[in-house]
Amino acid sequence: MSRLAICPGSFDPITNGHLDIIRRGAKIFDHVIVTVFNNQSKAPLFTVEERIELLEAATSDLDNVTVDASSGLLMDYAKEKQAHAILRGLRAVSDFEYEMQITSMNRKLNEDIETFFMMTNNQYSFLSSSMVKEVAKYNANVSDLVPKPVETALQKKFLKD
Ligand code: ADP
Repeated sequence: MSRLAICPGSFDPITNGHLDIIRRGAKIFDHVIVTVFNNQSKAPLFTVEERIELLEAATSDLDNVTVDASSGLLMDYAKEKQAHAILRGLRAVSDFEYEMQITSMNRKLNEDIETFFMMTNNQYSFLSSSMVKEVAKYNANVSDLVPKPVETALQKKFLKD
């Protein structure tokens, strides 16, 4: 049976930390769908379309990874896609409580779909989209933190302001 995982997130924008989780997940699962969920509580820098484009560019070498977007409930989406698992990354202890809360709620909604956590690579422990946006605003070099297309997109975004 082909094993499908959904890797959900805001991806505003994708960082090398996200990409590491996606790459490693793609070795474990037969197919990974990276799905942009528009988190209403966060004011995004990139539109959903822009985030999809950047995700597609960053994962173009991974044959079993596709990119999608949804504005619905994650567990409804996962069921509709007939996914077996949700794939999330864990950085520091600070991620843990938040992830525990979401996971236990998701399990209540659908106990057939498991959530899998992968520990980040140490080099990405303190890397987040918000940190990248914060420093990119001041023209800092983010080439080690994000895929090349994201670096270019950030430069364009902040050049406009
Ligand atoms: P969300 O708004 O759902 O937290 P994010 O785009 O911030 O979406 O993160 C999506 C997933 O990627 C989450 O599971 C998050 O913990 C994980 N993630 C984010 N940054 C990293 C990183 N540097 N290393 C590993 N996982 C990460």
